[in-house]
Amino acid sequence: MQTDTTLSAKYNIPVPRYTSYPTVPVWKEVHDPEPWKTSISHQVTEADWQKGISLYIHLPFCESLCIYCGCTKRITTNHSVEEEYIRAVLAEWQLYLDLLPHSPIIRELHLGGGTPTFFSPDNLSRLIEGLLAKATLHPSYSFSVEGHPNNTTRAHLDALYRSGFRRISYGVQDLNPEVQQLIHRIQPFENVQKATDEARSAGFSSVNFDLIYGLPAQDLDRLQYSIQQSLQLHPDRVAFYSYAHIPEVSCSQRLIDARLLPSPAQKLGLYHHGRSLFMDAGYIDIGMDHFALPADELYQAWQDGSLHRNFMGYTVQKSSILLGLGLSAISDTGYAFAQNTKSLKEYYRTIASGEPAIRKGYFLQEEDKTFRKHILDIACKGHTTLDRTWEAQLKEWTLPALQLLQNNGLVRVGGDEVSLTAEGRPFLRHVCKAFDLHLLRTERARLANNAICGRPAYASSL
Ligand code: SF4
Repeated sequence: MQTDTTLSAKYNIPVPRYTSYPTVPVWKEVHDPEPWKTSISHQVTEADWQKGISLYIHLPFCESLCIYCGCTKRITTNHSVEEEYIRAVLAEWQLYLDLLPHSPIIRELHLGGGTPTFFSPDNLSRLIEGLLAKATLHPSYSFSVEGHPNNTTRAHLDALYRSGFRRISYGVQDLNPEVQQLIHRIQPFENVQKATDEARSAGFSSVNFDLIYGLPAQDLDRLQYSIQQSLQLHPDRVAFYSYAHIPEVSCSQRLIDARLLPSPAQKLGLYHHGRSLFMDAGYIDIGMDHFALPADELYQAWQDGSLHRNFMGYTVQKSSILLGLGLSAISDTGYAFAQNTKSLKEYYRTIASGEPAIRKGYFLQEEDKTFRKHILDIACKGHTTLDRTWEAQLKEWTLPALQLLQNNGLVRVGGDEVSLTAEGRPFLRHVCKAFDLHLLRTERARLANNAICGRPAYASSL
């Protein structure tokens, strides 16, 4: 059997995180919102509505720019922007309420950003009240929020708790002062400790930390320091993300001195070191960057096969419909995807005109639905049963890709059953890719094109 490090070197190529299938680069520009509105009002079944919906609210403002950040955000210290934004989000919600066949049942609500805790506790409470005023709560509803350790106050936590929030995720990223200076996110350990302690004493039952590897000046010792400090606070879950340096897309990343970034080989070493520290501390790798304690419901859901994945990442709430409100927010009806504009001016203007602010989207074909299910099965349960209705596609694309993965010990294929092996867990995305017909077709076309042009086929960048 090959070692993790040998396999990681072999699979050191960029692969999507599969929060959607088809992935966002495949989606098209949207100039007419009517087909999307029809999908909401007519295509979704009553059974889907009855399961309850997930609601994602994007709150884009931040007081200070973290230069590694690739999120849609607006940097300002002017808090008067809160009012106008909340009005627009509630107006957008009303547009959806007018399209729905009846009052929606909310099963999951997530505030992301940006920095949700940029908003005052009163404004957050007003936003949640407005969202829930014309909706029903599912009996097992779950509300979660992304908090910034520097500005999440006890007043925020109390207000959110009163509104039904029990889960909070803090962006810890890295705890070394030198690394924090280089990424412009100065956040002493004491701030993380205080925010964590206060969340627990306010009544939050789950605290997640986000950590990043591959940041400038990170080395094994510094990563170990960050992880050990973080684990002292006993987060229930950890998301351990790879830093993606794409300065051509994210302007602020141009401020990062690329000479200080770990090499691909050093980055692999950081990932493996981090993973072993989490495992030694009793966390379980549930795949796609997530580690959870055995008592955490995310791990329990992975075990019993009820885990689900959507744009918010892994979730235990299995709703078929996700509605995203706010700048750049993504919605998913199971039949179609839609993403809002990333321009604040355009968002305000479009919502004020009484139309959804979507600018990108995709309607799923029957083939997409089948292969999406395979990808979700692998990502959430670690196994799938091949749908032979699509025999031609399986033979041409998926089975050859699975054969290579099986040769490396990452999957087991027996008849129609495909299962991830323990060795395959860190390579979950690569197994999902075997079902990503859009990407496999694009790669083959690119290879053919490069063979003609004589260019290298693929840039490697873990
Ligand atoms: S990392 Fe978070 S707080 Fe920092 S700029 Fe990005 S969205 Fe804002």
